[in-house]
Amino acid sequence: MPAKPAWPPKSLSRLFVEEPLRIDSDILITGPQAHYLRNVMRMAEAESIMLCDDLTGEYRATITSIGKRQLIARVEQKYRNREVVPDLWLCAAPIKKDRWYWLVEKACELGVKRIQPVRTERTIIDRIKPEKLRAHVIEAAEQCERTALPELSEMASLQQTLDNWPDDRHLFFADERLHEGEHQSGFAEQLHNHPGPAGLLIGPEGGFSDTENAAINAHPRAIAISLGPRILRAETAALTATAIWMAHHGDWVE
Ligand code: SAH
Repeated sequence: MPAKPAWPPKSLSRLFVEEPLRIDSDILITGPQAHYLRNVMRMAEAESIMLCDDLTGEYRATITSIGKRQLIARVEQKYRNREVVPDLWLCAAPIKKDRWYWLVEKACELGVKRIQPVRTERTIIDRIKPEKLRAHVIEAAEQCERTALPELSEMASLQQTLDNWPDDRHLFFADERLHEGEHQSGFAEQLHNHPGPAGLLIGPEGGFSDTENAAINAHPRAIAISLGPRILRAETAALTATAIWMAHHGDWVE
């Protein structure tokens, strides 16, 4: 068996599994996850891994058998309950694939509750591969040690998103043209004045059309926010707005 990786990981490998976990249950690990543990991490029997089920929480498990294409791990100790995820939705027009996957990974790391792709007039991506998006989100959650996965919504049009918006949720609309208009209070002040469940709405590379801008501003829960005088790329705007919201209302401080 080739040598183990030179970098002994400070933390144990973490995997999200589909089935609910409980102490003393045996978990069958197959497919890419088995390949990763066996061939990349060079794991051996009796070594430990962390397992999450996105339902009950995070457990330490011990590998009890390693086959060519599958491993079995025995769940032994519960470490953490599934976390309470800060109640922020990121509703963004999908952008070019690699940037979109980057944005989704950052949103996961920053702790969003839901990622909602929004189709707008200038959206250049017309289909999201749900299974690929889920794989990116799971990988990000395993790396950043979330015990809950972000919810992933189907792509919806802007109008559907506005029509179905919950009454109890603020809709912070990142409007790059806001600073041209009348004086507005900054995002931080808007956040301070509007605690509670929220969503961020970010446009595509080409921005929202005038019609869309008007429709969003007409929504009763919409709060237009500026992210400064410069035009940010969509992924920068999404990341920045998410981080600012998290710093105010997220779980970054106990
Ligand atoms: N239409 C713009 C580009 C849009 S940037 C242009 O003139 O080229 C993509 C999205 O990022 C925008 O739709 C908006 O939601 C957000 N965004 C970018 N810069 C912003 C800013 N300074 N303030 C608020 N939102 C911003």
